[in-house]
Amino acid sequence: MKKWRGLIAGFVVVLLVSMLAACGGQDLGGKNVSGNSKGGKKAKIKIGLSVSDLTLERWQHDRDIFVDQAKKLNADVLVQSANGDEAKQLSQIQNMLSQGIDALVIIAINSDSLSPVVDQAKKEGIPVLAYDRLINNADVDAYVSFDNVRVGEMQAEAIVKQVPKGNYFLLGGSPTDNNAKMFREGQMNVVKPLVDKGDIKVVGDQWAKDWDANEAMKIIENGLTANKNKIDAIVASNDSTAGGAIQALSSQHLDGKVAISGQDADLAAVQRIVEGKQTMTVYKPIKTIATKSAEVAVQLAKGEKVKSDSKVNNGKLDVPFIKLDPIMVNKDNVMDTIVKDEFHSYDEVYKNVPESERPAK
Ligand code: BGC
Repeated sequence: MKKWRGLIAGFVVVLLVSMLAACGGQDLGGKNVSGNSKGGKKAKIKIGLSVSDLTLERWQHDRDIFVDQAKKLNADVLVQSANGDEAKQLSQIQNMLSQGIDALVIIAINSDSLSPVVDQAKKEGIPVLAYDRLINNADVDAYVSFDNVRVGEMQAEAIVKQVPKGNYFLLGGSPTDNNAKMFREGQMNVVKPLVDKGDIKVVGDQWAKDWDANEAMKIIENGLTANKNKIDAIVASNDSTAGGAIQALSSQHLDGKVAISGQDADLAAVQRIVEGKQTMTVYKPIKTIATKSAEVAVQLAKGEKVKSDSKVNNGKLDVPFIKLDPIMVNKDNVMDTIVKDEFHSYDEVYKNVPESERPAK
């Protein structure tokens, strides 16, 4: 009996000690980050990621890396893609706001139409991060992107180097994307002085709605007809539109003969570069922007201050801008950039190049 009484007393002591330890653990649990926490327990951070269009290769990489990095930082990500539909993006964001998120990250379709939802988020105390594309006239907390004016300059510099004089076609991106305007600004920094000098003649200037490859193909088909195929260079603003343009060139047997730029280092574009059909692309390491953005989103969710070296005015305020460096890629440095970084593998990149013509591994 004595033995039993001793055992029961021991059990009660162990129980009390573990209960106390559990309570202590909860107290030490730190800041309650979210309104979605229950019973005073430390809640996991929840981030809403609104993607413009997951049908484009680039944004799939962004999504995957962002979600992985957030997971490492103990945050869950709710992802929604509007697939290029502006109205859908607005309603998806409203829906996310009702799901107890702690921070909202937006890749905007239309940089000018999101202030109502950003205002709504701010009213609810949810910080907003503009990912890759700035959101204008809205109370944005931070902006993480590449130096987009520099991207445009790199595109034009590479084309001008190959074709210093001649007929140029300017193929802009989506007219509603603030980045498309910044790329054009950079391109004109390089092209305009040569137009003024009389070396370059701009024979066409159009923007491809939604960055759509088919739209780009039609624009260049018409451009070729209007100019009796006399186009020497195309300053295309990204790889998907360059792809459409190159299709139009190829039906006139002009692919490889007309210099053309791009951006994103999409696999198809890098393959075209090593095959001599596209002059260059701009590689913007997705790993860098996605990882940094996930870190910033978690900081914002925790109410921490975000460090940035520069600011950009969006019409309403100076937004802290975390500015990343783009990299120019052509045939000569594919190995040292894309392949070295394992963005695409050697075998994928050189798939269509005869083995005897490939560089050493
Ligand atoms: C991005 C580009 C991308 C384009 C189309 C731009 O805002 O900066 O990298 O190619 O959108 O998705």
